[in-house]
Amino acid sequence: MIFDTHIHLNEPRLLEKIDFYLKEAKENGIDKFLCVGWDYESSKKAFELADKYDEIYAAIAIMPTEHKSFNDKNFNKLEDLLKISNKIIAIGETGLDYYREKETEIKEKQKDMFIRHIELANKYDLPVSIHCRDSIQDTFNILKTHPVKEKGVMHCYSGSLEMAKEFIKLGYKIAFGGVLTFKNSITTKQVLTSISIDDVVLETDAPYLAPMPYRGKLNEPKYIKNIAIFASHLLNMDLNVFENKIYKNSLRIFHVERNEDKN
Ligand SMILES: [Zn+2]
Repeated sequence: MIFDTHIHLNEPRLLEKIDFYLKEAKENGIDKFLCVGWDYESSKKAFELADKYDEIYAAIAIMPTEHKSFNDKNFNKLEDLLKISNKIIAIGETGLDYYREKETEIKEKQKDMFIRHIELANKYDLPVSIHCRDSIQDTFNILKTHPVKEKGVMHCYSGSLEMAKEFIKLGYKIAFGGVLTFKNSITTKQVLTSISIDDVVLETDAPYLAPMPYRGKLNEPKYIKNIAIFASHLLNMDLNVFENKIYKNSLRIFHVERNEDKN
């Protein structure tokens, strides 16, 4: 079985055919999804999907690139969702993204947002799903100085092996998606083959970042199977053994069984 630890089923292109995509995914052995929000509206949608579908869990946040919509009112509304759902199992995606915006003022706002999300995660004993783009050192510094009690996942990890080891030391899992299958992703492959399998989880980030041979097209939930096959080959591991290990890692980091016990 496969747990997709980062997917946007709340994105309109997937949402409009969600029953079809969930059925296809199920036929490919994908039985759990962490549906991740990027602003208040998409977080609320993730929450609604988790409420409606057994196999969907939610992560909620206002992501760093959405800093314009971050304010106390929206952030308080996010927290209201936490109070009424036991299927919100993570805060995310949160973190830092300096790819398009490099102004100091915006970086400072993103850092402030990131810390507020960490405080929210700690208040509700939840792990975090970390979005980090062109900001790895600042992301690391904040996670080090503002520890998340329940740790979390480095979503779509694209940094060096050396930094991956630092995040793992802090208790984070490293998430691999479609990028792993791209021909030029040499460092990403090196990270996967150099760290312990205990620190690995998988994700699609669908509808973005489709794996080979679908690169550039709409990423579909079932394509995580392609990523799992690719990763298991790279590791010279039997696919079933690989999937079982990754599945257990995912359940553990997101406390899914603990969460189900509460119901
Ligand atoms: Zn994402």
